[in-house]
Amino acid sequence: MPELPEVETVARGLRETILGRTIARVEHSQAPPASIEISASLRPHSFDHLLSGRKIEDITRRGKNLFVRLSGGLTLWVHLKMTGHFFWVPSTEPVDKHDLVRFDFKPSGKSSRNGYQLRFNDYRRFGRLRLFPDDELYTHPALAGLGPEPFDITSEEFVDLCRRRPRMIKPALLDQTFLAGLGNIYADESLYFARIHPRRSTDAPSKAKLTELHGHIRRLLRKAIKLMGTSVDSYVGVNGQAGSFQKYLRAYNNEGNPCVRCGSKIVREKIGSRSAHYCPRCQKLR
Ligand SMILES: [Zn+2]
Repeated sequence: MPELPEVETVARGLRETILGRTIARVEHSQAPPASIEISASLRPHSFDHLLSGRKIEDITRRGKNLFVRLSGGLTLWVHLKMTGHFFWVPSTEPVDKHDLVRFDFKPSGKSSRNGYQLRFNDYRRFGRLRLFPDDELYTHPALAGLGPEPFDITSEEFVDLCRRRPRMIKPALLDQTFLAGLGNIYADESLYFARIHPRRSTDAPSKAKLTELHGHIRRLLRKAIKLMGTSVDSYVGVNGQAGSFQKYLRAYNNEGNPCVRCGSKIVREKIGSRSAHYCPRCQKLR
C-alpha cells in the first residue's frame, strides 16, 4: 500500500501535470464505480457534472490522503489504498479495464501537456475518490482523527505521544490516529534502524531511544521521497516510473536474509494483524 513517501510522490506528479488546469470532462468505466463517493450535500449532481469546468487550484497531502482542491470550494479527496494509481497518459492510449475514471483537461498554452489525460487505475478497487465541499472535509471522522505528520512534530512531542497512552509500538506506528503516514514498510524499517522490537511498549524505550526512532522515521521518509518511493508491489508514480527505495530496505521484505548489522536472519512474524519484519538479535524484547 502506498505510504507517506509514495503518496507525496503522487502529489508531486499531479502538481507537475494537472495543477492550474481546468477539467473539461470526466468519464468513468461503469455508472458510477464504487470508487467514487459524493457528499450527500452535493447530490443528486453527477461526478462529471460537479467536476467539469473546475480548475485545479492546489494539490496537498495529509498522511496517506491526497487532496485536489478545485475552484468553487470543492475538494477531491483521494485515498489510493492498495492499488490505486494515477497515470498521466496520451488520450489516444488504449483504455485499460482497470482505468476506472478518466479526466480530460481544457487545452492550455503549455502545449506539451495538451493531448494527455489523467486516469485513475485500480485493480483491487479499494481506492476512493471522494468529492466534498471544503468546509465539510476536515470534519470528516477519517480526517479529523488523523495523528500528527512525522515532519511536523518535535522529538519531545513524539516522546510524549509514545508515553501518553502506552501500547505495543508496531501497531501504534501503523495507527493513523497516532501518527499519520506510516505503513508496514517504513514502520518496520524505522524500528529496525532504532533497534526496537516491534512488540515493545511505546513507553518502554528510553527518551533517547524514542528520539532516535523519530529521527529514523523522518530520515527514512525523507530519503524515500527523494527516491520517489518504494516499489515492492504495484506502486509507480503518475509518470509510470517506479520508485527505488526498495534497494535500501533492511527488514521489510527481507525475511530469511541476513541482517546487515549482525548476520542473523530477519524474521517475519504476525504482530497485531500485520506482518512485522525484524532482526531477533538486534531488536531484542527486553
Ligand atoms: Zn541484526
